[in-house]
Amino acid sequence: ENITIKSLAEKMAINAAEVIKKLMELGTMATINQEIDSDTATIVANELGYEVNVKVEEDKEALLMQDHEDTPADLEPRPCVVTIMGHVDHGKTSLLDAIRHTNVTASEAGGITQHIGAYQVEHNGKKITFVDTPGHAAFTAMRARGAKVTDIAILVVAADDGVMPQTVEAINHARAAEVPIIVAINKIDKPEADPAKVKRELTEHNLVAEEWGGDTIFVEVSAKNRENLTELLEMILLVAEIGEYKANPNRPARGTVIEAELDKGRGPVATVLVQNGTLRVGNFIIAGVAYGKVRAMMDHAGRRVKKAGPSMPVEVLGFSEVPPAGELFFAVEDEKLGKQIIDERHNKKRELELKATAPRVSLDDLFSQIQDGQVKELSIIIKADVQGSVEAVRQALEQIGTEEVRVNVIHGGVGAITETDIMLASASNAIVIGFNVRPDVNARKAVETEKVDIRLYRVIYDAIEDIKAAMSGLLDPEY
Ligand code: GDP
Repeated sequence: ENITIKSLAEKMAINAAEVIKKLMELGTMATINQEIDSDTATIVANELGYEVNVKVEEDKEALLMQDHEDTPADLEPRPCVVTIMGHVDHGKTSLLDAIRHTNVTASEAGGITQHIGAYQVEHNGKKITFVDTPGHAAFTAMRARGAKVTDIAILVVAADDGVMPQTVEAINHARAAEVPIIVAINKIDKPEADPAKVKRELTEHNLVAEEWGGDTIFVEVSAKNRENLTELLEMILLVAEIGEYKANPNRPARGTVIEAELDKGRGPVATVLVQNGTLRVGNFIIAGVAYGKVRAMMDHAGRRVKKAGPSMPVEVLGFSEVPPAGELFFAVEDEKLGKQIIDERHNKKRELELKATAPRVSLDDLFSQIQDGQVKELSIIIKADVQGSVEAVRQALEQIGTEEVRVNVIHGGVGAITETDIMLASASNAIVIGFNVRPDVNARKAVETEKVDIRLYRVIYDAIEDIKAAMSGLLDPEY
């Protein structure tokens, strides 16, 4: 498939001259009405910060998705999906285990509870789904891939330790995802526990307890003694009620792969979270280029189930290969159609189409993005060698926002730039600024795939000047 420079530029809403210039940099001379092949077009578009979406010939997939638009009348309440986040050793795993063991229903008590990446409990006749892979890194990695799995974040803070760097990181990751936060102050059984100190420290991060005039829910728990877990579940249900989470159970399933592995005896095994529709044994299911007929499904207690509705996590057997965690899946009732879609996904000869989504922000073309109205807010992550620099930069940056574009520091912390920072930047379309710190090895790898703009500085003044210049179109481009 070929495309002219002119229509490629139109699809990206940029000047054709920019495309021609980029092609020249890549060693190809072309005129505005000249056609280039889809591979070249993909490279140029990527270089210019656009994602290329290849449209399949007949586009059965798009038709299928259109067929399944839900109307408000189709929607029914679904259980909320909860993720537990917090600093290492503050008790995320213990809390997940404690909740799970206290709430096993009579029927599953005899069964072997196994770890499948997510589980469901029932409280007051209402279900709650817990994603059992604790940590905000996994949470944000999924979000960067486009999966929005979590409805509510539980922030665990140990009462004997208080707010720590990863606590702050977790808060910022949950906020960037616009997910409500419930604070669980854990380890209150310890003699040195000081819940009031935790509350005080969290006020600085705008999580203010209700008794102090705020609107954040705090629950004091002990995962070890299984104390106050019921209250925590009650609070989760309270927040869920406000969220009014809904889905349409009467349609083919779609959702996200939570975990997957190759099992020696059973072949590819995937835990999927159904987010809409109902998944049934016998359905044809597609996740990326993995596909198959659902041979069997098991719930978190290892019981065989025939169907799984919205918010239910199930282990699925029958995939042709192991789908990657975070991949979106969908079921097709008609196997023939499913196979066609897979063929189309594999098919090399596809029509080129560019996604209409905003390109990645970068300081180099920030000005034109602002002018095009694509960027209304510049999100920034600051990493520095000392906390003082983080704060100084945050204050300075937040002051240089203009009417056209607001500057929003979504996360700041001390230490090297990590992979988690890059995933957060990717998921939130932010740029990363480092002061006297560098990206570590994993972060450097992540930058290559996520194409996040990182800027390293030694002097705060230089950073401020760069961003001011970028906002007003005066930044000298980096070559
Ligand atoms: P994670 O890294 O956040 O998943 O933390 P873990 O769940 O692995 O817990 C870290 C340590 O704290 C373990 O030694 C737990 O036994 C201990 N711990 C967790 N919850 C409690 C609690 O409520 N009270 C006490 N005393 N110890 C706890």
